[in-house]
Amino acid sequence: MNEELKPSRRQFLKIGGAAITMIPIMSMSGNAVAAVNAAMRTSMKYQDKPNGAKHCANCMHFVPGKTPKALGGCQIFPGDTEISPNGFCIAWAAKP
Ligand code: SF4
Repeated sequence: MNEELKPSRRQFLKIGGAAITMIPIMSMSGNAVAAVNAAMRTSMKYQDKPNGAKHCANCMHFVPGKTPKALGGCQIFPGDTEISPNGFCIAWAAKP
């Protein structure tokens, strides 16, 4: 095999390490796999409680869960499946 094309152990470990850091923080919730986008939550100052009448359930970015009270997602929090309908962040925008 051409030595230039043969990946070294160091290269393999670098790629593996990078791949692991791309995996969001995951937790098991019942039978479903749930994930939290901690970086986005921090940067958008997400909280699990409403800000007055402003909350995720009446935000245009909210992706509802299976029931009105179930956790859902957010269009601007990639991979996060634990957004509370009663939550809030600084990106809140009223549903049209
Ligand atoms: S943008 Fe913020 S307020 Fe709106 S659904 Fe997403 S997390 Fe909730």
